[in-house]
Amino acid sequence: MPTPPPDPDCIFCRIVAGDIPCHKLHKDEHTLAFLDINPTAPGHTLLIPKAHNARLDEMPGETMAKLGAVLPRLAGAVAGAVGAPGYNILQNNGAEAGQAVFHVHFHIIPRGLPGSDFRFDWPAG
Ligand code: C5P
Repeated sequence: MPTPPPDPDCIFCRIVAGDIPCHKLHKDEHTLAFLDINPTAPGHTLLIPKAHNARLDEMPGETMAKLGAVLPRLAGAVAGAVGAPGYNILQNNGAEAGQAVFHVHFHIIPRGLPGSDFRFDWPAG
């Protein structure tokens, strides 16, 4: 499957291109990870594919494999770096689900840090 072209209107494509700065934690041929600009917790990190796909169900499985090769160790490293005993992996698709940036991204959100934890309604109900 051909690599989707960058979307000039996409803020994460512009971060990938280096047009917008970010605090980079990881970079390889296919993926990029950086600190969220508006963190929910210390160390809140986003892992993105470099190729533009608006949402997960539009993304090739091969891209998921590239992200999957990075996510486990990155998540552990992020949580370890801030001393968090746990973390959430969150991935929103569609405005109704809370997606604000329409370029696939995985949130790594450290949890259990004293004084900075937040209420997260799970399990639902
Ligand atoms: O999942 P959702 O689309 O809501 O998350 C988008 C995330 O991208 C937000 O947490 C926001 O703070 C982050 N963001 C960022 N840098 C930007 C623009 C948005 O880290 N320049």
